[in-house]
Amino acid sequence: MQRRKFIKNTLGYPILLLTPSLFTGSCNKGTDNDAKGKTVVIIGAGISGLGAAKKLKENGFEVIVLEAQDKVGGRLSTNRTLGISFDEGASWIHGVNGNPITSLAQQAGMKTFQTLDDSRKSYDTGGVLRSTSSYNTAEDELYTILNTLTNSGSASQSFEKVFNNLYPAKANDRLWKFLLSTYVTFDTGDIDKLSSLLYNEGEEFGGGEKIVTNGYDTIAHHLANGLNIKLGQRVSKVDYSSAKAKVTHNGNVTEADFVLITVPLGVLKSGAIQFAPNLPAAKINAIQKVGMNCVNKFLLTWNTAFWDDVQYISYTPEIKDKFNYFVNVKKFHPTVNALMTFAYANYARQTETMTDAQITDEIMAHLRDIYGNNIPNPTNMLRTKWQTNENAFGAYSYTAVGTEMQHFDDLAEAVNNKLFFAGEHTEADYFSTVHGAYMSGMREAEKIIDLV
Ligand SMILES: Cc1cc2nc3c(=O)[nH]c(=O)nc-3n(C[C@H](O)[C@H](O)[C@H](O)COP(=O)(O)OP(=O)(O)OC[C@H]3O[C@@H](n4cnc5c(N)ncnc54)[C@H](O)[C@@H]3O)c2cc1C
Repeated sequence: MQRRKFIKNTLGYPILLLTPSLFTGSCNKGTDNDAKGKTVVIIGAGISGLGAAKKLKENGFEVIVLEAQDKVGGRLSTNRTLGISFDEGASWIHGVNGNPITSLAQQAGMKTFQTLDDSRKSYDTGGVLRSTSSYNTAEDELYTILNTLTNSGSASQSFEKVFNNLYPAKANDRLWKFLLSTYVTFDTGDIDKLSSLLYNEGEEFGGGEKIVTNGYDTIAHHLANGLNIKLGQRVSKVDYSSAKAKVTHNGNVTEADFVLITVPLGVLKSGAIQFAPNLPAAKINAIQKVGMNCVNKFLLTWNTAFWDDVQYISYTPEIKDKFNYFVNVKKFHPTVNALMTFAYANYARQTETMTDAQITDEIMAHLRDIYGNNIPNPTNMLRTKWQTNENAFGAYSYTAVGTEMQHFDDLAEAVNNKLFFAGEHTEADYFSTVHGAYMSGMREAEKIIDLV
């Protein structure tokens, strides 16, 4: 039930046709040394910015990373306040074979656990356990639908609209609401806005899913080592009208030969960074047309565990996208009694207006429906608010109605060989993922290296 699970799940995936240097940074083209004296300012210390910074530095550039937050990692964000790692952003390596994050994780000392995909129980309302066969049958049918619905899609219709037209009986079925929520909305974005033509775009690595157990930010800290990173520096303007670009941050101006912009699509959409002159029309259009979704994550802890000893517990409430899927953290942290749950799309946005007590009550109502009224309240609850987070304004990009795959390339397009753009939303094949973000940083570093 992890993100990217359904996409093209029956196909074989091509191993990336990328040069090894793109992943390893081992080929240092500029060291003889045209890059000396050339300054690159990188905006954002997420994995795309950090990966690019490391590679550019290894190739002789002077690299300055400006990061708005007081920490590196961006959407690789680990909260350890409860003594365990709660990854507020990414948790999984989606497909370990050929994935550049697999080797990066090893170098960084990041620990992972192969999630037990078949270790699961699904409950209907009233605590009624669904039979494995009925769940599996519906899941198989969903995969078939996902492999074919695009044939009935059109440029102006959302996934939800086409699905509801084709399968009206399923539209109000609780199990189907759950399946669409956790297999489609979680993986992509709001299904009432998701493109009925492009919902299954994007490539995938094979080899199973691994969840990170000691914090995804381990990779960010590994990449950040030895780099010149200025924290707490919010960039408000990029002026690229003269030979040197001028980047304004916290009232200061830093000049650069090249600027690499890696802020999330949500930040670009918000207009928080002013560009002078304005960005080209194609880029502005792409910023508007590619969708930015919202996923929020919640970690709850107890003194004792009362739930099933399985990896995943699912619940199928009437309200879609609402706390319907629980990851049993105890499976990979045996001494910790914790569950992680999720909210997606508009319900996720709604949670951001709710108090901690309201959130806990709503989650407990689902768990009490499954396990009875006597189960205790949690000792702690951690939560995210990605929609209103000014460093992201959403979780990750998706193909909305109106998105064209060309828009991802437009987001990646350099401007005047001075402004460069990386980030998950710039990778047409691997958008919305950690590996896509990392690959985009490598790609842009290569472009800049090739210019000198
Ligand atoms: C809830 C959630 C779950 C996810 N789950 C997974 C998963 O399981 N597996 C997976 O592969 N992917 C997952 N992803 C996606 C993955 O986390 C991202 O694709 C990836 O981390 C993005 O990296 P990035 O470098 O493009 O952007 P970011 O990591 O967002 O980096 C951008 C940086 O820019 C900074 N910034 C923003 N504005 C400014 C400014 N004005 N000035 C200076 N700095 C600024 C930000 O603070 C941030 O540090 C998930 C994301 C979320 C939010």
